[in-house]
Amino acid sequence: MGRVTPPDATSASLIDSESLAHSESGAAQEVLGRVFGYDSFRGDQREIVQHVIDGGDALVLMPTGGGKSLCYQVPALVRPGVGVVISPLIALMQDQVDALSALGVRAGFLNSTQFPDERRMVEAQFVAGELDLLYLAPERLRSEATAQLLERGKISLFAIDEAHCVSQWGHDFRPDYLALSVLHERWPQVPRVALTATATAKTRDEIIERLDLGSARRFVSSFDRPNIQYRIEPKNRAERQLLEFIRTEHPGDAGIVYCLSRNSVEKTASFLTENGVPAIPYHAGLDNRTRAANQARFLREDGLVVVATIAFGMGIDKPDVRFVAHLDLPKSVEGYYQETGRAGRDGLASTAWMVYGLNDVVQQRKLIDNSEGDAAHRRQLQLHLDAMLALCETVSCRRGQLLAYFGQSEAAACGNCDTCLTPPESWDGTVAAQKFLSAVLRLDRERGQRFGAGHIVDILLGKTNPKVQQHAHHELSVFGVGADLRDTEWRGVARQLLAQGLLAVHGEYGVLTLTEASNDVLFSGRQVRLRREVERAAAKPARAPKSGKTPKAAVDLAPEDMALFEKLREWRAATAKEQGVPAYVVFHDATLREIAASKPNSLAQLGTVSGVGENKLAKYGEGVLETVAAA
Ligand code: ADP
Ligand code: ZN
Repeated sequence: MGRVTPPDATSASLIDSESLAHSESGAAQEVLGRVFGYDSFRGDQREIVQHVIDGGDALVLMPTGGGKSLCYQVPALVRPGVGVVISPLIALMQDQVDALSALGVRAGFLNSTQFPDERRMVEAQFVAGELDLLYLAPERLRSEATAQLLERGKISLFAIDEAHCVSQWGHDFRPDYLALSVLHERWPQVPRVALTATATAKTRDEIIERLDLGSARRFVSSFDRPNIQYRIEPKNRAERQLLEFIRTEHPGDAGIVYCLSRNSVEKTASFLTENGVPAIPYHAGLDNRTRAANQARFLREDGLVVVATIAFGMGIDKPDVRFVAHLDLPKSVEGYYQETGRAGRDGLASTAWMVYGLNDVVQQRKLIDNSEGDAAHRRQLQLHLDAMLALCETVSCRRGQLLAYFGQSEAAACGNCDTCLTPPESWDGTVAAQKFLSAVLRLDRERGQRFGAGHIVDILLGKTNPKVQQHAHHELSVFGVGADLRDTEWRGVARQLLAQGLLAVHGEYGVLTLTEASNDVLFSGRQVRLRREVERAAAKPARAPKSGKTPKAAVDLAPEDMALFEKLREWRAATAKEQGVPAYVVFHDATLREIAASKPNSLAQLGTVSGVGENKLAKYGEGVLETVAAA
């Protein structure tokens, strides 16, 4: 039988809803071009935006720099009402609002840093529907007053930024995020879009469960950041290595250096400054004002290095951070990936560089032993650390391993990480491992003594230091059996045994003990493969991403256009200063490059450059054209 012809009414409504969908996707495209000055959506953006415009819930997993903001900003501008954005990044709300204002978007925020007057004004604007976007700190949702306020206005959507903060398994749990389940209960008809750059399967499941997003559509982007070069090197003299790295590969660039403690943050920042690299510290021990001032300087000035604890960086969307350096081992791969992801949001070549050594393992282990919480919690921390160590010790592509951790399998080696660029040699470390482990075993069994790695290495090397003499360790049968390896090589052996779980470390003094698996090496012929220690991995400058893999590489400037680019940067710096906003709020580097290359001589031409929307054209157009004409 032929198909049943639908009654007229139905076919009419079908046509209507189709043309409606068309006009709405047209609306999204129109907003993208007019407001943001971009000509096309990236990756999943178009689908996400359309899904939310149509009223659907969405879970968006995209790496840092992937373009999450547009996924809620565009729908908020297309749908009637105010888009409410929940964000833990209180210190950055002002900048976010400034950046939106520069685009002509009506935005405001509500958080605890405001004066009551200011707050009342934003509240009134919200109720009157005079805002496109309202940024809200999560803790505000705990108060009934906020919920009542929200009920007085019309909400177009809820965006839950940094959604992994709801996960206890993740590395950045914020109890206030648990209160966000109220959104769905109270406003079931308002679409919600939850966004994060952190997404192991476990974290993802927790987000879905806690935010009741079971029926939300999931959009999982590739987590690859092809423009970032990943490198992990053995740590010898961390500060010197860092200085050398900056001097040779990133002179004059903006960068973030992560350290574990406040003390090392301060020391490293002064060390860099004394050596001609302008650097400022950032950690939770600084008073609020200094902290805010340092963050503002980093965002506003060109080529500044910030040395920070992990308290710094979430939501920092400075597009031109050229390197992220780790002087201490991060606690988890999630943390590492998020921190390194702050490099190169503009898609240009950047470096994620880290030094790591035996003491890092000891230190992290100590932190876990001393951490609050039950055994299950400590076990969880240990699993995070193990994954991080496996990344450090891998002999295959770092990027491949990172992506695999986030559930994404890459067939080919990336060609832009240290193991791809200078493939490490591995060697049969079984005998060395047996020597090391049997030294630990003998001390423990024969004498009931436990020592740290440094002392074990001295015993293997046959060094008669005072401690050796005091304990008569030169009488041990293992004394001096390790003369075939150097000190740094033995430390590398110890580090890798720890990383492979063939050795365990405990307590304040980092004493070593054997594990179940150690016995397999000592008594059951288990083979051990180790990565050869290199004194210093060959430095290769970060390169531009392989073509085709990134959305859009920046325009390569001909030498004769560089002068104009510099002029435009000067114009931008002056303009930004005058308006009290970061330079990138005016225009990104990528936009200035395109202007320098195309030298527009009319507003219409300038308007076709990516990143030049309606509002910026009106505001800055003349200034840019004058600068171009004067050059
Ligand atoms: P995320 O929040 O995922 O880290 P952002 O939303 O800050 O990423 O976007 C990263 C950068 O990419 C920003 O500089 C943004 O302006 C730019 N961007 C995002 N989407 C597009 C697009 N469709 N076309 C051009 N640039 C875009
Ligand atoms: Zn690689």
